[in-house]
Amino acid sequence: MHWHCFKMAKTNRKYRIVDVISASQQDPGSSILIIYTGGTIGMEHDASGALKALNFNQIVKRAPSLKNLDIKITVISFPDPLDSSNVTVREWQDLGYIINENHHHYDGFVILHGTDTMSYTASALSYMLQGLNKPVIFTGAQLPISAIRSDARANLVTALEIASSKKNGVPVVPEVCVYFDYQLMRGNRTFKKRSSQFAAFGCENYPILAKAGITINYNESVIAPYDPDAKLNYKNKFSNDVIVLKLFPSLKESYLRHILDIPGLKGVIMETYGSGNAPTGAWFLRCIEEAIAKNIIIYNISQLTGGIVIHGRYETSKYLDELGVISGSDITREAAITKLMFLLGTESNIEHIRQKLKAPLCGELTVLN
Ligand code: ASP
Repeated sequence: MHWHCFKMAKTNRKYRIVDVISASQQDPGSSILIIYTGGTIGMEHDASGALKALNFNQIVKRAPSLKNLDIKITVISFPDPLDSSNVTVREWQDLGYIINENHHHYDGFVILHGTDTMSYTASALSYMLQGLNKPVIFTGAQLPISAIRSDARANLVTALEIASSKKNGVPVVPEVCVYFDYQLMRGNRTFKKRSSQFAAFGCENYPILAKAGITINYNESVIAPYDPDAKLNYKNKFSNDVIVLKLFPSLKESYLRHILDIPGLKGVIMETYGSGNAPTGAWFLRCIEEAIAKNIIIYNISQLTGGIVIHGRYETSKYLDELGVISGSDITREAAITKLMFLLGTESNIEHIRQKLKAPLCGELTVLN
């Protein structure tokens, strides 16, 4: 294993690059780039007992089996590994940039990331890397790799195997995914649902892409198909002029007005009840109408983890449709927020944004008939 530092032109950050020498030496079956951003997987307790992210070499020390895989592994490590609570658009852009720059040199990518915001980053990356034809597999752990009962080794080794899997010479999973606790899920369909069990992620509104047991069983019919003509269309702009508004009984009119009057606000992810229902009081509908008249986009998603917004199913959502609120169908909160940020960052025509919010960019929502 050897280290060197290098500076990435666009991101202006210094990364550390490591080659993990494969035991199989000559011509390993495939080559994977691991990008280590931080998270519990590489953490250790500091003097106060709190978990803090460490350098990647700790991970290799704790998982010597990495060297025995028939995979040529290169690692790019963030200079200061992060708890994912500190991840921002900048880290999404760095990840997108690294993958775009290295796209032709590797068969697949594994991103080690904290679980807290993994679903946001995976969703953001799926939008940034449209036309992707290679696996980008996010994983992490609930216990540090140094802990005896850690889930880190199994998650990492299986994520590497999935990222390098090919059938008839083409990648089996050419999309952005989260692999965790024996399940492979479409990244922009996931959400973190547990903090104290190994099964940390949920994926309610889309089937699981693969299950790992003695063998890895892929559910090929629900995996994005490999397109030999696809070209990676990398985009990296986001706008954070957005806010999440979660409805609850007896929300105050003055508070709602205050939120919708925030200067510069461009988009609201409105978390409604059940299948997209909201109060029908005149003051509430007037607030929404006035916001839309100011060109603020209101994106309706359900508060339920397995919810689907169906405008007009109840009278309490029919009015929203008439006012111009956009239905997010069965999109997750994480995919909705990042999608709105992405579209506001990359598109200037508000009508185009509104249309794109209704349709999937890359499998993040279901279009209902
Ligand atoms: N706080 C950690 C993080 O998201 C939790 C984890 O990695 O599981 O970075």
